[in-house]
Amino acid sequence: MNWLKAMVLHNQASIESFPLTYIDFDKPFPQRNEVLVRIKCCGVCRTDLHIIEGELPTVKIPLIVGHQIIGVIEDIGDNVDHGFINMRVGIPWLYWSCGECKYCKAGLENLCDNALFTGYSVDGGYAEYIVAHKDFIHKIPVGLDDLHAAPLLCGGAIGYRALKLTRLLGVEEGKLGLFGFGSSAHMIIQVAISHGLDVYVFTRSKLRQEHAISLGAIWASGPMDDPGVKLDAAIVFAPAGWVAVEALKKLDKGGRLVLAGIYMSPIEKLDYDLLWLEREIKSVANVTRRDVREFLDEAAKIRIKTTVTAYPLKDANKALYDLKHGKLKGSAVLKVS
Ligand SMILES: [Zn+2]
Ligand SMILES: [Zn+2]
Repeated sequence: MNWLKAMVLHNQASIESFPLTYIDFDKPFPQRNEVLVRIKCCGVCRTDLHIIEGELPTVKIPLIVGHQIIGVIEDIGDNVDHGFINMRVGIPWLYWSCGECKYCKAGLENLCDNALFTGYSVDGGYAEYIVAHKDFIHKIPVGLDDLHAAPLLCGGAIGYRALKLTRLLGVEEGKLGLFGFGSSAHMIIQVAISHGLDVYVFTRSKLRQEHAISLGAIWASGPMDDPGVKLDAAIVFAPAGWVAVEALKKLDKGGRLVLAGIYMSPIEKLDYDLLWLEREIKSVANVTRRDVREFLDEAAKIRIKTTVTAYPLKDANKALYDLKHGKLKGSAVLKVS
């Protein structure tokens, strides 16, 4: 067959109008250095919603979104080892980086000037097949099932990069604050605790506070509340500038605040006192291949628990609608085959 079923975007529009259409689409063919992946499932990310609703400009139309892909390699192009056939792999947001710009050369391919992004600059995972470059796919460790592995590829991996940037991994002991406790944070708390960190969680939702405690948080309360200790580092997942200020107030001397969101409302008033004594702020953008691979290995090792709601591919609009309106438990994942 030379076509595949996909949920395709032709015009950016509010998700309330269910803008993705379930149609036949040209099946891609693996070129040199590429593999053809039969998609088993694809996670639904808030970024997909931003693309569909026009908060991000389109670079390609028609477009298949989706960048948390789990699938099996079915065919290979030239210059690809036969050992790749039947391998179970993941494809994240970073579809390709150039390897030649100053960022790539510095090990910062997440900032590559020429990068391509899955489900944005090239077609993504709301479909039955995708082609990908052999160097930019990630073997999924045994012990992670398809549905639960999908959300690891975006929210999980970006959260892991944020955790690395706190510089608390590998220290003897450390106090880490997590501000906001959604999909990404509920994965990262498990990694942080496995590294021996004490984790304090700040969220207004009582339900999420309870969830955090059940996963091993030492303390969970609202972002304005005082945990009674100073934090060595904090990660802000909430897209609100005022939360970043609250997090800074709780940092110890030399502490680092990591901002993990791709969007945040303005940080309006920042007293210099909050930065004084070598406190610092760092944002996180995208992930490197190394981040993804390290995180997948750690996730398998600690048997990370993710909460997932599955939808058939045809119901992608509904999944995105439920995500937008907070009707989801955990992460939404589309089951393709
Ligand atoms: Zn994403
Ligand atoms: Zn580059």
